[in-house]
Amino acid sequence: MRVLLLGGTGEARELARLLVADGIEVVSSLAGRTTTPQQLAGEVRTGGFGGAEGLTTWLQNNPVDAVVDATHPFATQITTNATLATTRTKTPHLILHRPPWEDVSADWRWVDTAGGAAELLPRVGSRVFLTIGRQGLDAFANTGLWTLARCVDPPEPAPTWCELLLARGPFTEPEELDLLQRHHIDVLVTKNSGGPATAPKLRAAAHLHIPVVIIRRPPLPAGVNIVNSPAEALAWLRRTVRVTG
Ligand code: NAP
Repeated sequence: MRVLLLGGTGEARELARLLVADGIEVVSSLAGRTTTPQQLAGEVRTGGFGGAEGLTTWLQNNPVDAVVDATHPFATQITTNATLATTRTKTPHLILHRPPWEDVSADWRWVDTAGGAAELLPRVGSRVFLTIGRQGLDAFANTGLWTLARCVDPPEPAPTWCELLLARGPFTEPEELDLLQRHHIDVLVTKNSGGPATAPKLRAAAHLHIPVVIIRRPPLPAGVNIVNSPAEALAWLRRTVRVTG
């Protein structure tokens, strides 16, 4: 069995490990945004495919038994492209979608977009901790609020309107508590990324009674098989590829 695994997440890394351990051939695909990606089991390819068309051509030239989309829940373009390309090439397709975070405190303010978060912020706090990654930072450039933005890699061009903190998680709850207190943060902004690696910031914020402005997830494509964990993805592959292969 040979699988194309669209990655860029901890779950994708874990699934690559499980597949290789199970004797399944895997090609992990990375967008190539991170300058120092973490080690991956199996084969790795890097860079965009060239839209849905490019991915369709790639699948025609490199037939696989299944495509598993384990990209980030906010990586909507690649998910749309994978849905189109697998439909066109009739390749079995699975989305590994990590569960969203559930509201753990009364102080979560839900918004649909980064722009919506920026608009709401001045009514919520004045010292902002922005944890939405590099993309979408610009939406917060004109809030006029003191802002600390945490990213894995430096945004380009470097923003002049905020302080930058370059760091890669996971972070522990004591680390997050210390950071929030040291910078006198009074509002946290996050996407509803889900997963345990970046959840301690939410518990730290709740502990300090700091409100959280949280961006809702974009919807998933209709009619696609979805599982919530790497182990479930492996089980689906064993079942599906045995049946259709
Ligand atoms: P996106 O907006 O959905 O994708 C933009 C373009 O990047 C895609 O059209 C595709 O280019 C290329 N691409 C994205 N993921 C790819 C992959 N795994 N392999 C090959 N090409 C890929 O995605 P994004 O939000 O920029 O995220 C890029 C990567 O970072 C994803 O792999 C995602 O898992 C990871 N990530 C994203 C976030 C986030 O908040 N968005 C957070 C953590 C990690 P072509 O059209 O040329 O094929």
